[in-house]
Amino acid sequence: MLVLRDIRKSFGGTSVLQGIDLTVGAGQMVCLIGASGSGKSTLLRCMNLLEPIDDGQILLDGTDISEPGLNPQPVRQQIGMVFQSYNLFPHMTALDNALLAPRRIKRLSKAALLPPVEALFARFGLRDRMHHYPDQLSGGQQQRVAIVRALAMQPRLMLFDEITSALDPELVGEVLDVLRQLRAEGMTMVLATHEMGFARDLADTVCFLDQGRILEQGPPDRLFGAPQQERTRAFLSRVL
Ligand code: ATP
Ligand code: MG
Repeated sequence: MLVLRDIRKSFGGTSVLQGIDLTVGAGQMVCLIGASGSGKSTLLRCMNLLEPIDDGQILLDGTDISEPGLNPQPVRQQIGMVFQSYNLFPHMTALDNALLAPRRIKRLSKAALLPPVEALFARFGLRDRMHHYPDQLSGGQQQRVAIVRALAMQPRLMLFDEITSALDPELVGEVLDVLRQLRAEGMTMVLATHEMGFARDLADTVCFLDQGRILEQGPPDRLFGAPQQERTRAFLSRVL
C-alpha cells in the first residue's frame, strides 16, 4: 500500500533521514523504534506530506505522492495521523471535534456523518463521552477521541506518533486496546512507539531506526529475539 524509496531529509545542514526504504502492505502494522532523535517522527511526517522530502519517492498504492508541486490535501485526507499530544479543540465537544474535518473538508452534512461517527465512538467505548468537552475527559479518553477524529475521515492508512507517551501508565492500556482492535479490523498502520511489548505482540514488521537509517527491520520475533546489529542489541538492552 505504501512504499518509501530512498527517502532523504535534512534540516539546515543536518541530515535527519539518510535513505529510508520501507514497504507497508495493506492491513499491516509496522512499528518504528529507535532512540530519541533517530528520525521516527520526521519519517511519519514525511509519509503524510507534513514535511517535504529532499529526495526519494513515496508511493501510495502505486501513485507517486511525493512529486513536487502535487497538492498534498487529497493525500492527507487518506492518511490519518495521531500525535502524542491529542490536540483536541478545547471549546468543542468530543463529537464536534470528530465531525469538524469531514464536514469542512469533505463537505458532508452532519446528518450524513452522525451515524458512522457515533458508531466509531461506540466501538471504542466512548458512547457516553461524545458530548463531553476535552477537559472533562481523562487523557486516555482524549487520546481515544483523537483516534476517532482521525478515523472519521475514513483514512486508508493511519500513522501514530508515540500516542501513549504522555499518558499515565494506567491509561496506556485502553489506548493500546484501540490499536489492537483497529489492527484486527484490518487497518494499515505505522506507529512510532516506545511500547516494546506491544510492538512485539502485534507488529508485522519492526524497524529499528538509528541516525536516520533503518539499521535493521524484520518480524518482531527476529528483531527482538535475534537482533543482527550491535547497535540494535545495545538499544534493546537499554529499553527492554
Ligand atoms: P523522539 O523519540 O525524541 O520523538 P524521533 O526519533 O521522533 O525522536 P525526530 O523528531 O524525527 O526524532 O528528530 C530527528 C532529528 O531531526 C533530531 O535531531 C531533531 O532535532 C531534528 N529535527 C526534527 N524536526 C526538525 C525541524 N523542524 N527543524 C530542525 N531539526 C529538526
Ligand atoms: Mg518523535
